[in-house]
Amino acid sequence: MAFENLSERIQKALKNLTGKGKVSEEDINKASREIRLALLEADVNFKVVKDFIKTIKKEALGKEVQESLNPGQQVIKIVNEQLTKMMGEEAVPLNKSKHIPTIIMMVGLQGTGKTTTVGKLAYHLQKTEKARPLLIAGDIYRPAAVDQLKQIGEQLKVPVYSEDGEKDVAKIVQDGLAEAEKNKNDYVLIDTAGRLEIDEPLMEELERVKKVANPDNILLVVDAMTGQAATDVAKGFDERLDVTGVILTKLDGDTRGGAALSIRAVTGKPILFTGQGEKLSDLDVFHPDRMASRILGMGDMLSLIEKAQQDYDAKEAQKVAEKMRENTFDFNDFVDQLEQVQKMGPLDQIMKMIPGLANNPQLKNLSVDQKQIDHTEAIVYSMTEEERENPDILNPSRRRRIAAGSGRPVVEVNRMIKQFKQMREMMSKVTKGNMKGLSNLPGM
Ligand code: GDP
Repeated sequence: MAFENLSERIQKALKNLTGKGKVSEEDINKASREIRLALLEADVNFKVVKDFIKTIKKEALGKEVQESLNPGQQVIKIVNEQLTKMMGEEAVPLNKSKHIPTIIMMVGLQGTGKTTTVGKLAYHLQKTEKARPLLIAGDIYRPAAVDQLKQIGEQLKVPVYSEDGEKDVAKIVQDGLAEAEKNKNDYVLIDTAGRLEIDEPLMEELERVKKVANPDNILLVVDAMTGQAATDVAKGFDERLDVTGVILTKLDGDTRGGAALSIRAVTGKPILFTGQGEKLSDLDVFHPDRMASRILGMGDMLSLIEKAQQDYDAKEAQKVAEKMRENTFDFNDFVDQLEQVQKMGPLDQIMKMIPGLANNPQLKNLSVDQKQIDHTEAIVYSMTEEERENPDILNPSRRRRIAAGSGRPVVEVNRMIKQFKQMREMMSKVTKGNMKGLSNLPGM
């Protein structure tokens, strides 16, 4: 996962402080040095790192050490605040036009994920605002791009405007906008051409598109895997087009995180969304504070909840939460949830967003395989209705019968039931707002 290394190293640097009753200047210097190295190795811009460390030191040393506060926690709080600030403090929404349609122009180098992201954003707007977007295929040099966008349009049931053989992109955009006006689409998303690197003809073309479209948003799509080089690209595009924001893609890869951490500080432009995979649902609103917590290993419960809300039936989720709180969550709910959760995305990623689990070394090699889920389902389906509703009655003879019925060994049945009970226990604690587990985390 992105930030893994950085996260581990920063947490290690801070861990040494948490146990201390008093933190000396030397302690802070030592931690700062380690954080500095960690950031540089994560490919964060040199100047950004320098400013960051300077602020941390100033704030940490300048604070009167209050006896009542754990000084280690104070330092962590400062690091958390500064990390958040570095990425921009608050989530930034799209600019909305007073009259429909709101126009979004997507720009970026080739292969960064522009076309995919147009689709993801359209899907996001459909989901969150019930929007009726129209997509304009303005990347006419990469023949596959137009087809790719048409396919996405079909998948989302969203119209895609394109003109076969037309070489003037500005004209296509103009015609596409007229079409959107006619159809009363509330959003227009314009895909544009990219190149392997910034060049003059590309910039001129994008400037012409900008002129005819007069977009409310010019979003620069940046591949997080390119690390610090991404900030140079961002600067280049921004100087010519005055972009309004950035979408950082491929944060699901093991990027070191440098781009996410530097882009705001270097360009002054906010990151609005992040791409977390190849599917159309893999786009998340970027919350700097949550990202900072994630880096510091405090998990990202809010993003998880938001994701769950988007992909879950809200009423259903409410019912499950209730059951968890009352500890009446049973095996029927369990298989339902298994299905729901599988819709949300890879389980290992979801687990990593849960506070306290984020950096659990046991999760490192965790991969969830479909076979295992199928086996679990087979075991549950071999239970009687009564057993599913009352897992506590599952005595050894019942377990043997279930094992035979599902074709799984008894030990596996036992293990599954044990895990289920542990999970139920944990869920019940979390949903009751009993976040005591958190106090064991560094810095809480
Ligand atoms: P474009 O040339 O900028 O239009 O790029 P595309 O949209 O064609 O994307 C290039 C490749 O990156 C495709 O294989 C996409 O599936 C992939 N891609 C885009 N966004 C993401 C992301 O957030 N995560 C991952 N893992 N792959 C992505």
